[in-house]
Amino acid sequence: MAETQVQVNEDGVQVAAETTYVCPGCQAQLSDGIIQNRSVRYCTQCRGMLVSMNSFLPLIEFLRALHRPTGSNLQPRDSA
Ligand SMILES: [Zn+2]
Repeated sequence: MAETQVQVNEDGVQVAAETTYVCPGCQAQLSDGIIQNRSVRYCTQCRGMLVSMNSFLPLIEFLRALHRPTGSNLQPRDSA
């Protein structure tokens, strides 16, 4: 990666403060996070993410590139 001033974790997420939102997957508290200058909610426990539809496609493409998938192991998660 090029020079960045922020600390990002292995999912490419810059994790900020915890929110009052609860992870739909594991019920842990979600944190605010930023990926590629887009705001997301990130679960530090199960590493799940909640992403707005506006940010979803560009982020998925970024994350796919990050993980270099061998198959289609990155499943979209609806926010319903
Ligand atoms: Zn979770």
